Amino acid sequence: MKDQTCIFCRILKGEIASRKILEEMEGVAIHDVNPQAPFHALVISRNHVPDMAALFEGDGGEQIAGKLMKMAVNVAQQAGLSPEGYRMVVNSGDNGGQTVGHLHVHVLGGRQMVWPPG
Ligand code: 5GP
Ligand code: ZN
Repeated sequence: MKDQTCIFCRILKGEIASRKILEEMEGVAIHDVNPQAPFHALVISRNHVPDMAALFEGDGGEQIAGKLMKMAVNVAQQAGLSPEGYRMVVNSGDNGGQTVGHLHVHVLGGRQMVWPPG
């Protein structure tokens, strides 16, 4: 299911260009257009799901969530981030800082992350 107005659905359809890293049945990993770290990728769910809560409302949500997290780990390892470490983030809703309402996992690395995040 795709949403014609959604940026990530349009990326998945190839209507908006992106730098792809990894492609699987459940999701696609791309480089973020506005990187917040030397390495910043997004693992985007293949189907239009607004967030994790919505994903778990449907059948097979746990399996898809697990696959997206696994893809995020693979992306980090492929980028050579695993010895030093990296951050995986899912922003949810306005207070979570989510700006694109299509489920995605951020993978950030290549610099020291700080806590608490902004
Ligand atoms: P959020 O704020 O929803 O957690 O993350 C959305 C992310 O999508 C942001 O980091 C933003 O830079 C990225 N983004 C927004 N539009 C595009 C786009 O057209 N292409 C790519 N590659 N990333 C995008
Ligand atoms: Zn979408």
